[in-house]
Amino acid sequence: MSKIVNSKSTILAIVAVVAVALVAGTSSSVAKPDKVDGVNVPFGRIPQKVKDNRYPRTYYPNTEKVTKDEMRITALGTGMPNQSPSNVAACFLVELGNGESFLFDMGTGSTDRLAGLEPDYSKLDKVFISHLHTDHAGDLAALWVGGWINGRYTPLHVYGPSGSSPELGTKVHVDHIREAWAWDVTSRAGTLPNAGGEIVAHEFDFSKTAVIYNKNGVKVTSFPAIHIRDGSVSFRLDWKGLSFVFGGDSVPNKWFAKEAKGADVVVHECFFTPEQWMRIAGFPYKQAYWVTSVIHTPPQGFGKLMSMVKPRLAVAYHYWNHRDLELEIYDGVRETYDGPLAMADDLTVINLRKDHIEVREVTFNHDSWPQGTSKEWDTAPRGEPATGLMADWLKKGELKGLNPPPKQPIE
Ligand SMILES: [Zn+2]
Ligand SMILES: [Zn+2]
Repeated sequence: MSKIVNSKSTILAIVAVVAVALVAGTSSSVAKPDKVDGVNVPFGRIPQKVKDNRYPRTYYPNTEKVTKDEMRITALGTGMPNQSPSNVAACFLVELGNGESFLFDMGTGSTDRLAGLEPDYSKLDKVFISHLHTDHAGDLAALWVGGWINGRYTPLHVYGPSGSSPELGTKVHVDHIREAWAWDVTSRAGTLPNAGGEIVAHEFDFSKTAVIYNKNGVKVTSFPAIHIRDGSVSFRLDWKGLSFVFGGDSVPNKWFAKEAKGADVVVHECFFTPEQWMRIAGFPYKQAYWVTSVIHTPPQGFGKLMSMVKPRLAVAYHYWNHRDLELEIYDGVRETYDGPLAMADDLTVINLRKDHIEVREVTFNHDSWPQGTSKEWDTAPRGEPATGLMADWLKKGELKGLNPPPKQPIE
């Protein structure tokens, strides 16, 4: 009998020791990301080099290095303003071999896809907005605040076009985002790095073809697009002899044909046909034609444009990849273009090198967590936690003693 009691005591003692060790382990060594070539990657997941252009068939986030002469382009959103779980709205991520990242458009839902990549949010501080439709800019606030919590300790910079008047331009849009979310952002003050709570607009003249960003050998050029009203543009990014062109919404236009001519990866909208839009959206023909072919570019127009541009790879987006639609859309493109083509859906990933282009799909963990914040984020300057934001009567309504007291001094 006593032997059994002794065994039980021993087991309990071992359990207690293990429990203490576990608690000590978690509290003293929170896993921080590993830094690889200046980019934070989730702890314990060291990206590998891809040799001789032999890419694994599937891209798993943070498993591959972007080599020094390489560009990785990920379609995060390829859909429409009216949401579909299979395609969120416009967003393309460009990662360069020098460790820099650039976001082109930030449509609604795109931050969810971005989270699946478990990215280094400290690098995601530059967004280039083609125009101020929600399907191209609707997740700006989500990136601003979510990216701040997830590791950005510097301001978010938003590059976007002017409009026909100041109130229709990017600067006023961003100023309004800041004002609209004052309740949110000022309440977080002090717990997060101060600078990460800033959002800065860089508005440029939509009507000019001009270099609007030029740093570290990366050049971004903006040029006009034709889309309902003044203030829509497309972009071209040049780096180390590689080029990426991102078309915001537009009908085929002369500026795009000129700037995209012979570029490496050329992304342009490829909308539905009028007949498809009548079928899926219930529009009468006149309105369906207006939307698909006067405001946007249907598949046959996309194909003709790409036949003029002749890119190394043409990329179509801005439609739903639903089974009953996408083959018709593909056939429409092929009526007028027979060159290299990728019909992008959400999470199509394109690796671009001088001698090779690889097109694959990303597979990510739908339960993925943010990778965790870096040491730089931890030590970035902070103010004091926000206090005095509520009335005394409200604070006095707290039921005291229900939440456990602190285990360490917090003053
Ligand atoms: Zn759009
Ligand atoms: Zn639009």
